Amino acid sequence: MTSYILAIDQGTTSTRAMIFDDQGRAISSHQKEFTQYFPQDGWVEHDGMEIIQTVIETVREALDSLPEAVSPKAIGITNQRETTLIWDRGTGEPICPAIVWQDRRTADFCGLLKQDGYEDMVSEKTGLLLDPYFSATKITWILDNVPGARDRAKKGELAFGTVDSFILWHLTEGQVHATDMTNASRTMLYNIHDLAWDKDLLKMFDVPEALLPSVHACDHYFGDTGKSLFGKSIPITAIAGDQQAALIGQNCLAAGQIKCTYGTGGFIMMHTGDKIIRSQNRLLTTVAYKMQGKVAYALEGSFFSAGSAVQWLRDGLKIIRAASETEELARSIDSCNGVTMVPAFTGLGAPHWNPEARATLFGITRATGIAEIARATLESVGFQTADLLDAMQQDTGMSIDALKVDGGMVENKWLLQFLADIMQLKVVRSEVSETTALGVALLAGVGVGLFNKVNKLSIFNHYYNITKPEMVTDETILHKKNWENAVESACYYSGK
Ligand code: ADP
Repeated sequence: MTSYILAIDQGTTSTRAMIFDDQGRAISSHQKEFTQYFPQDGWVEHDGMEIIQTVIETVREALDSLPEAVSPKAIGITNQRETTLIWDRGTGEPICPAIVWQDRRTADFCGLLKQDGYEDMVSEKTGLLLDPYFSATKITWILDNVPGARDRAKKGELAFGTVDSFILWHLTEGQVHATDMTNASRTMLYNIHDLAWDKDLLKMFDVPEALLPSVHACDHYFGDTGKSLFGKSIPITAIAGDQQAALIGQNCLAAGQIKCTYGTGGFIMMHTGDKIIRSQNRLLTTVAYKMQGKVAYALEGSFFSAGSAVQWLRDGLKIIRAASETEELARSIDSCNGVTMVPAFTGLGAPHWNPEARATLFGITRATGIAEIARATLESVGFQTADLLDAMQQDTGMSIDALKVDGGMVENKWLLQFLADIMQLKVVRSEVSETTALGVALLAGVGVGLFNKVNKLSIFNHYYNITKPEMVTDETILHKKNWENAVESACYYSGK
């Protein structure tokens, strides 16, 4: 008889519950969006209880999609990372809105700590950069700004958690306050060498230990769902942050394997084995997973503009009606005819790190049309990927033989070919578009003893599309040179 796993994928804008079978095939998917709050410039908040509501509703729908009397063997939870919640241990209610990972309200605090020379220490212990993105300064902000919070935290009346931890608390009806190592490693309070909360960092950020969840492996048995929620108790046997879950869902389980998710932005993660590699290019070092007793680490880098640059063509310039039109436009010409786009709409991320740079189009002539601009936009996604991959290769000294890709943009076959050409690498696309949910379903299957060797699953042996490089190397070099000049000019123009 077939066994099933339920994956909860709690993302930044929506929550999804998916059922997978024991071969890793997706059986059903139910999704609900929730409200985004922008109360001030640079602030982004979520309502924790609304998130829980979307989790409960989508899980109920997913359970209803199974044959009668069939229950999933286990649940896995994957989530938007870093987003910070503090709740009352008595009621389970958050004491204020969740502060979302994109929120910049603690930028000044981070700036002060940097000025005081703390970045090296933080970076050495956590693998991260001193940035508002991560949870630590968000916790400090809540304790300093919600009346009575610090006192109550010290007395042990409050609990902190990233979204996974908050969902776990509610699904177990307040029985379990825990998280996994991937989520813990994004708080900026977790020492990735010792794999424990770091006393020096807790002191520096003034965070009482009584607030913190216990930290476990990703395939840990975390607890059972309360009976009153779904009419049955189901074991929760996996938790992982979304990018780490996608790494597993892309079968990147060995050193040197690498995936990129192309959505609004681009997110690259490279498995570096059991080694902690410190980047010379300001990439992040993070826990990839702990599974079957083994800890693996990863290097991570992201660029801000991928699909969002295509959205600008559609919604800003209005030169296309749908994102997919870029594919035909790119194919309609043999080259960009010298046009290069640097999509620094919100600055440049790794490895350039220039928050002041702004987007620019170079090489425009009277012959330049929509096709050149659309093609240059897609090419910019390829160049940004290539820059990050080069940085990762430099940092690790590992050779990369393929890039696994997912996300909304990989529908674009022209882009996949360009990626393969510009990097002179195989580009591998999974048939399963929901690699994040798949990853945590696989982990949950491992946790409950359903799968012993994740990478031996048939889903990983049959379901890939591979794009091989075609462009000759001279052309690749010339293309890259143009891009490098354009990036330099974009940074120069900003005055940096
Ligand atoms: P997110 O999860 O960040 O919301 P998705 O993974 O859903 O993003 O991807 C959507 C993004 O991909 C949009 O920004 C859209 O412009 C872009 N996109 C979708 N389809 C295509 C396509 N065929 N060609 C180019 N870009 C595309």
